This record gives sequence, structure tokens and C-alpha cells, in this order.
Amino acid sequence: MTTGTTPAGQPDVIVVGGGIGGLSTAYALTRQGLKVRVLEQAPEYGEVGAGLQIAPNCTRILHEYGLLDEAKALGVVPENMVMRDALDSRELTRLDLRDLERRYGFPYMVIHRSDLHGIFLRACERAGVELLNNQTVVAYENTEGGALVRLKDGRVESAPLVVAADGLHSVARRDLIGDEPVSSSYVAYRAAVPFEQVKDNGVAENDVTVYVGPQRHFVQYALRGGEMFNQVAVFESPRAMAGQDDWGTPDELDAAFEGSCDTVLKGVPLMWRDRWWRMFDRDPIETWVHGRIALLGDAAHPPLQYMAQGAIMAIEDGWVLAQHYARLAEAAPAGAAPDWDGALAAYEAVRVEHCRRVQTTARAWGELWHVDGVAREQRNAIMRARDAYDYSFTDWVYGPTALTPDEEPEMFTPIPLSSAAVEEPVA
Ligand SMILES: Cc1cc2nc3c(=O)[nH]c(=O)nc-3n(C[C@H](O)[C@H](O)[C@H](O)COP(=O)(O)OP(=O)(O)OC[C@H]3O[C@@H](n4cnc5c(N)ncnc54)[C@H](O)[C@@H]3O)c2cc1C
Repeated sequence: MTTGTTPAGQPDVIVVGGGIGGLSTAYALTRQGLKVRVLEQAPEYGEVGAGLQIAPNCTRILHEYGLLDEAKALGVVPENMVMRDALDSRELTRLDLRDLERRYGFPYMVIHRSDLHGIFLRACERAGVELLNNQTVVAYENTEGGALVRLKDGRVESAPLVVAADGLHSVARRDLIGDEPVSSSYVAYRAAVPFEQVKDNGVAENDVTVYVGPQRHFVQYALRGGEMFNQVAVFESPRAMAGQDDWGTPDELDAAFEGSCDTVLKGVPLMWRDRWWRMFDRDPIETWVHGRIALLGDAAHPPLQYMAQGAIMAIEDGWVLAQHYARLAEAAPAGAAPDWDGALAAYEAVRVEHCRRVQTTARAWGELWHVDGVAREQRNAIMRARDAYDYSFTDWVYGPTALTPDEEPEMFTPIPLSSAAVEEPVA
């Protein structure tokens, strides 16, 4: 079905990028009766990487899409999220994920990135999304009543709306905003290995465990029904800090985790060593919509990964845009052209501020994880004092996705490190 107002052969919406953001948005819009074409540069649709954590603000949307059961069948619903000190392995704080599910109505779960991507890919195929590959977009332009994209092979595609979901290194972002990704000097190593390989390492197979330590952290959780075990090792690269280009190599990985607790030390040798991910984000921006070209997902708001909300925000973006489209379409006279300007304004009005909060909190959260010395003692004291059932730090992000600014919950109030009285270590 199309809106009936676009010329034959032309889609209602072009989505550039077939990552989790692009596919989930294409699916959300197709569910509203729109004809969507996805242009992906890669020869095949797929995802590289390991696990993804998906919080209730995402599983709520998966449920609405009828995709949550499939996600649960492919993923794992852990029992707890436990934060430990990476040096002495002592517990700092935890979330009881069963209780958290009761509070927010939907589970906190983990899933292999390629499985979540596959769920959206199959949903798009079933819904009739036009999924094209080998389509590299090199330029964007607004036109009368819509926008066009220019492809590397010289072709031009146009639609009433173009959504740029082309990731951290977005061409649309470069053309429309012109800013640069910001390097954090941190690098991530990943590994998803058979559970057999870690069973004697002291791992907690039913939990998400995050070990936080000076200039490093280490994440562990089971995947694929417990058959696999996911690990992420993240550290600050001394060579990046020194301004050198060849940073984040495996020798730096081994050196960064020296002195860590036993479980972490046993986990580090299992990390994939043939690829690593340098951690970049971007400063938040206020304008994501330029005429009929809209930035979405990492193209609009790439975060550092410490809140585990990057893919979730992309999925929320598509849901919010589709909801506003549907609301305006329902109110419009039969046969009227979609009110894309209204839907895009409503999308931008609510998503920019929410994602700014997540991006800035992710930066602060990462800094807190990686402190050393007295600050580490203060952080540990504050975290240990937290009641495991105090949700004041999660309500603003795990609750229902806001559709309008007035639905956006209050932020939490940060606790200053200096409020924790700890003894200075003897020199
Ligand atoms: C170590 C790590 C751990 C993370 N953990 C989590 C987590 O637990 N939970 C979570 O929610 N998020 C997490 N994230 C963040 C999450 O991975 C990203 O935010 C999310 O994948 C962004 O999706 P996207 O679709 O916007 O962009 P991308 O996944 O980058 O997809 C962009 C797509 O666009 C295509 N493309 C790019 N340029 C062009 C072009 N010119 N023409 C056509 N196609 C193009 C690309 O090939 C790609 O398919 C993590 C990130 C990292 C690095």
C-alpha cells in the first residue's frame, strides 16, 4: 500500500542505511501503510559485532511490533545486572532484573546483534519493505515537496521523505552539519565464545556483570539461550592519549588489564584480536531535520556505549516518527498528502532532548566507571550505599518512550563524588 499521493514507482520514504536504526524505522513506517525503500551500501544486510543489551524502553516497542517473543527466543533474559570493582571484584551495586521487569512492564534482555538485526530484516521482508543493496549514497538534496539522494553510480532516487540512518560516519551529517566524530581515546574489544570456554572462569552465567576500574571496564553476559558468552573489554589507549595514529592494538589491551581481578584476567585472552572498535561519539546537535531530510540513529546522536542505549535510541526514533505520522494521517482528510513537516517537527521536538540526555549521561557514566585513587573509593562508597530497588536513576530512560516533550520524565539528580567521605590512602 502507498499513501496514494506519490508517483507510481516512487516510494513514500527512502531510508539510507540498513543497520538496526534503518531497518527498524523502515518497518515502523511500513506498518503505517507507507511504501519504504531502504538503500544499503553493503552487498548484504548484516551486523558485525557481538552482544547488545536491550532495556525495557526497547522491549516495549518490540512487543508492540509483535517481535518480542522472537527476540526472547533468540536472546537471554538475565536475572541481575551487577556492577563490580575490576580490581578487587567486590560488588558495588545491582539491579534485580526480574523486579525491574515488574516496574517497567517489559524485560531487560541481551541478544546477539546479528539476531536483533535479523529480526528486523525478516519483519521488513514480511511487511514488503523494498530492501536494496550496493547502494552507496554520496549526496542529499531537498526538492520541491521532498528530497533526493545521489548514488555513487550516478543514479538519483527521490521521495517525499528521506531518512538518513547511515551511522556514525553519516554522509548526511557531514553535508548538513559538518561536524566531526569525537574520539574518547577508549577502544573496545569484543568476543562471543562458546560458554564451555568460560565455565571455569568464575563467571556469573545468569547475570550481566560490569567490572569497572581505572581506565578500563569489562562486561560479561550469556547469549543465545546460554550457549554463548559475550565479553566486551574497553580501555583507554595510552597511544591515543599521546596523539599517535596506531592506537588500540592488542599489546595495549593486555597492558591495560594488568592488575585486574581474576575473572577479568581470565577473560582478556579470549577477546577477538583481529579487530577492535575505537570509541567515538559526537557532540549533541539541536537540528536533525533539514527540509525533508531527517537524521536518525547514530547519524543523529551517536553515544559512547556506557548507557547501552545507542541501538535502542535508533529504534525509538523510528517508532516516534511513525507514531507522529500516523497521528497526523488519522486527523487529515482522506487522500491528503502526508504531513511530513508536522511529523518531522514533532519527532525533532521530543527526540533531540532525550538523546542529548543519553549522550551526555553516557560520557559522565563512562568517566565515573574509569576513575582511580580516592575518586574510585568515593564512587564505590556511593554505589554500595544505593538501595538495589531504588529506580530514581533508571526511570528517566527505561520508562515508556516519550512522544512529546511534556511526556519526557525528569532526569535523575547526580550524587557528587565529594559527598562520600573516604579516608585518603596513606602514601
Ligand atoms: C562496543 C559497543 C557496544 C554497544 N552496546 C550497545 C548496547 O548494549 N545497546 C545498545 O542499544 N546499543 C549499543 N551500542 C550502540 C549501537 O551499536 C549503535 O548505536 C547502533 O548500532 C546504531 O545503529 P544505526 O542503524 O544508527 O547505525 P549503524 O549500525 O552504523 O548502521 C548504519 C548503516 O548505514 C550503512 N551506510 C553507511 N553509510 C552509507 C551510505 N553512504 N550509503 C548507504 N548506506 C550507508 C552502513 O553500511 C550500515 O549498515 C554499542 C556500540 C558499541 C560500539
